[in-house]
Amino acid sequence: MYSKENQVDSRALKSLLKFDPFSGGRYEAESSGGLGDAEYKHAVQSGLLFSPNLITCDHGSAVKRLLLAKKQCRDRKFYTDLFIAGLASGRLDYRAGLPAYAIALNFPDHKFEPLDGGPYCRVCGLQKEGNSLARTDRNFDRFAAGGVIGASPLDIAFYLECHHLLSPVSPDDKSLKVMKAILDILREAPPGETAKKQVVKNVRKIPDFKASVEQVQMVLETLGYCSVLRAPKHKGYLHEFVNLGYAPRSSPRTDWRYPVDLWRGEFGLDNDAVDCWFGSYPLLD
Ligand SMILES: [Zn+2]
Repeated sequence: MYSKENQVDSRALKSLLKFDPFSGGRYEAESSGGLGDAEYKHAVQSGLLFSPNLITCDHGSAVKRLLLAKKQCRDRKFYTDLFIAGLASGRLDYRAGLPAYAIALNFPDHKFEPLDGGPYCRVCGLQKEGNSLARTDRNFDRFAAGGVIGASPLDIAFYLECHHLLSPVSPDDKSLKVMKAILDILREAPPGETAKKQVVKNVRKIPDFKASVEQVQMVLETLGYCSVLRAPKHKGYLHEFVNLGYAPRSSPRTDWRYPVDLWRGEFGLDNDAVDCWFGSYPLLD
């Protein structure tokens, strides 16, 4: 997927960003996503697209896969360095490792425990058999959104495996300033304000940070997974693993993820979490 200094094949990246599993009118994992044959083959060979896209596995293998990816995790700074470096550089894939790492942090080894006798596991939300992972779709998330969209343990394992193909980088001053500006906006958010409207608008105005609304949401959700943005009774993944499928929501229609979905200005930032993740960066003191 990556060559020297984290470079990606630009032709294959264009194909990945064009890849549309709905190109036939409905979701088809094994379609070529609207790409021509040559484009598709090239992108698969470059490692950015996957053939087959969809793989399935049972609960035990999925849990093992995430535990293995977790075991292979580097130190915390590897993820925060890349995340921050991805802000001003526009390398969205650099940002997608930290949320996966934070979610995996307290993921427990466990056996399938059906919730209320149903088909889903109480702990992680997977089924006993036949859990699917659409690898190209998830890699698309990394390069197009810069965050975690698929949230099953299999998805999180895959995001981590891809992220571990990157070489370490150090964030430059521009990216550190963007990070500082994001934290300042959040610190100054008035009581009652959520992270979803004015905060997003303000973040999009930060110099040297070009991001769509969805990409800003991914960054803010990442700060949620890191427990920097949390609610008093919902301290987030730094403290415990929470299955996103069963996590509390601010309203049934929200498309924002736990716990940032529950955050409001009066809760401020969790200074211990800021210290834990970002305390080693001088500009962020
Ligand atoms: Zn489970």
